[in-house]
Amino acid sequence: MKILVINAGSSSLKYQLIDMETEKVMAKGLCERIGIEGSKLNHTPDGGEKNVIEKDMKDHSDAIKMVLDALTDANYGVISDMSEIAAVGHRVVHGGETFSGSVVINDEVKKALEACVPLAPLHNPANLIGIAACEAAMPGVPQIGVFDTAFHQTMSKEAYMYAVPYELYEKHKIRRYGFHGTSHKYVAQEAAKMLGKNPEDLKMITCHMGNGSSITAVDGGKSVDTSMGFTPLAGVVMGTRCGDIDPAIVKFIAEAEGKTIAEVDALLNKESGVQGISGVSSDFRDLEAAQAEGNERAALALDMFVESVRKFIGSYMVKMGGVDAIIFTAGIGENTPVMREAITANLEAFGIKVDSEKNEKAIRGAQMDISAADSKVKILVVPTNEELMIAKETLALVK
Ligand code: ADP
Repeated sequence: MKILVINAGSSSLKYQLIDMETEKVMAKGLCERIGIEGSKLNHTPDGGEKNVIEKDMKDHSDAIKMVLDALTDANYGVISDMSEIAAVGHRVVHGGETFSGSVVINDEVKKALEACVPLAPLHNPANLIGIAACEAAMPGVPQIGVFDTAFHQTMSKEAYMYAVPYELYEKHKIRRYGFHGTSHKYVAQEAAKMLGKNPEDLKMITCHMGNGSSITAVDGGKSVDTSMGFTPLAGVVMGTRCGDIDPAIVKFIAEAEGKTIAEVDALLNKESGVQGISGVSSDFRDLEAAQAEGNERAALALDMFVESVRKFIGSYMVKMGGVDAIIFTAGIGENTPVMREAITANLEAFGIKVDSEKNEKAIRGAQMDISAADSKVKILVVPTNEELMIAKETLALVK
């Protein structure tokens, strides 16, 4: 069975066609600048070269049509007819409190998704447009919604409530939702497989560290707490996002700098994090290079990132009464031995010890156990694969 995975953004659309018999990606690509002059499609069949197809895409429907054309193209296509696509799995950012798992999309679901738009005004409308475009281009093919928030719906109330007037929760659904759920769920499942255990029998802390980062406490296979909050701005220090700060700073910056609330919000989302501290870059490769050249602010930014991740690890160990495995994933988690080493340093007292040699030698893209032989807690690198997880969820629902 072949499943098309779609991740629609406001002016972009990423896709992968996955053969579920082998779990292999048959082709993947990206539509850029949808609705903007100079739109193009990058399409790469498995084992083949990247094809750049420049053509106007006035909206997401045009983009989906181009994707289907590319997938069935005589030269660089990978299927002979689009009827080979059994279902489409859509990444949807926000499922609010309505969705605690993936769903087959119907009119009622779409209404519920509309209702979640105020919670993710930048993302959910694009996801809805992507769904509508696929429905139009592929009538009768099941469309499945897979939510970034769903995995975290198992958090208990004391973990997800904020101590603001209760009416604000009732009126506006202000609470912690958490994000990256598909990734946290995937790596927790893979880690359990690596350890030869049932997820139900494990306490894990999953560290998704990329442009956006979040840490999750996974107890018995369920998310019990996570560092991102009402929005993906909360939690650890990120590429350009501030993570947790004193909320009073918002008003203070607005007054001190003569900015509107919206401007302060943009500053905290786009000009903060390691970028804001270092003044160098949001990319950890650049920061490590700058640090090596003696740039003190780059070094400080990296130290602050490490400190913020360690705070969550400590807090989640207390929450779960221990931890069996710490899992690193995403751009930084998978590729940066220095960060993994720093985050787990000095924790021997808690049974956490990295094998530095294994950590240094971890092969990119491979699952690795980097814990020392005498480490009670397993420390694992598990490459994330959100697309495969979306395809698996989609398959489970269409079966
Ligand atoms: P996203 O959160 O956008 O999905 P990724 O998970 O791909 O992003 O993470 C991207 C980030 O990962 C980059 O900004 C960079 O900081 C970091 N990264 C990727 N590769 C490396 C590497 N080889 N060394 C250090 N950092 C890396």
